[in-house]
Amino acid sequence: MNLQLSEEHLMIQKAARDFAQNELKPGVIERDEHQKFPAEQIKMLGELGFMGMMVDPKYGGSGMDTISYLLAIEEISKVDASASVVLSVNNSLVCWGLEHFGSEDQKQKYLVPLAKGEKIGAFCLSEPEAGSDATSQRTTAIDMGDHYLLNGTKNWITNGSTASTYIVMAQTDVSKGSRGINALIIERGMEGFIVGAKENKLGIRGSDTHTLLFNDVKVPKENRIGDDGIGFKFAMKTLAGGRIGIAAQALGIAGGAYELALEYSKVRSAFGKVISQHQAIQFKLADMATEIEAARLLVYKAAWDKDNGHDYGTSGAMAKLYASKVAMEVTVEAVQVHGGYGFVKEYHVERLMRDAKITQIYEGTSEVQKIVIARSVLG
Ligand SMILES: Cc1cc2nc3c(=O)[nH]c(=O)nc-3n(C[C@H](O)[C@H](O)[C@H](O)COP(=O)(O)OP(=O)(O)OC[C@H]3O[C@@H](n4cnc5c(N)ncnc54)[C@H](O)[C@@H]3O)c2cc1C
Repeated sequence: MNLQLSEEHLMIQKAARDFAQNELKPGVIERDEHQKFPAEQIKMLGELGFMGMMVDPKYGGSGMDTISYLLAIEEISKVDASASVVLSVNNSLVCWGLEHFGSEDQKQKYLVPLAKGEKIGAFCLSEPEAGSDATSQRTTAIDMGDHYLLNGTKNWITNGSTASTYIVMAQTDVSKGSRGINALIIERGMEGFIVGAKENKLGIRGSDTHTLLFNDVKVPKENRIGDDGIGFKFAMKTLAGGRIGIAAQALGIAGGAYELALEYSKVRSAFGKVISQHQAIQFKLADMATEIEAARLLVYKAAWDKDNGHDYGTSGAMAKLYASKVAMEVTVEAVQVHGGYGFVKEYHVERLMRDAKITQIYEGTSEVQKIVIARSVLG
């Protein structure tokens, strides 16, 4: 057992931390307020190799391990969870899915620009009537011989208006249930593909979440990922890894709020002493630090499982379930440590508290994670 980060890990952690402080922090309050996508920053992150961190360099990626990727997500999430979700979707859902299930042609055509950060990807599973119950896909991809005819609606799609490449799950053969679902690559601009309304959200307001509409979109057969009917398996396998990224996002949000609370507690005075001298505040900081450390170990363990070829379905679900709970608890307490100042935007903690909530919802709600964990422990 080795809990030590390598030199390379520490370098990536520092690079991500510096980027977050220097490039993301300055405009983060304004972007949150105006729901502005961090376009410039995402472009820079792409140039620095953060958009395809785990992708093989032969496909334009950085060829790093999962821990490196999580360290980057964690550091960026301490400051801007709207930026980190863009990275998370591109890295762990779109790039990972294409690299592990896509054909060589699909990798050359779609993965390379995504991994280099020249293009952004989106992962489209959820529908108005199919969220947790993702098997109830109503979007259809009818087999027309040389192409599929795609019809339906996806909602809550991260990178909805900024992506160029969309992986869309759709039902080809209803009689086969989840084995009749396909994963198709859709390009921005295909006829009949419409980017619908943008959501006005509680948190991660800088990310663009949209409804997508598909009206008789002709999708070439070569855009199907993998064999006929593996779309659901593809989505579940991809999400199992994605969850570890969201767990790292939760860890980062908690860590960011904790660091702010710690700093503030040393400079704010009440009753003749800095508030960090009050034991009630000390206990809050002690609880926060302990919970974050416990979450970190679960997140790194899931990453270790993934990098070492072990099953990471359960450890990833545990990491996301626990880290997202910690993110909620720690951010609420960080606002409390700040008193009234925690309730206003300038001090950042209220945003982190709002951002934390999504980590209990997307890529499988906390209840869904418990279903996954229970299934595993019950055998
Ligand atoms: C900001 C944002 C970004 C998102 N990005 C994406 C994206 O990029 N791509 C994508 O495909 N999706 C995305 N999603 C969708 C997200 O994954 C779903 O919202 C989530 O899976 C929950 O589905 P739902 O909203 O339909 O809730 P529902 O499934 O309707 O759940 C409602 C409640 O019921 C609970 N519940 C449901 N079934 C059970 C059960 N069997 N046992 C116990 N409790 C249950 C849930 O846990 C939840 O509390 C995003 C969502 C948001 C809000």
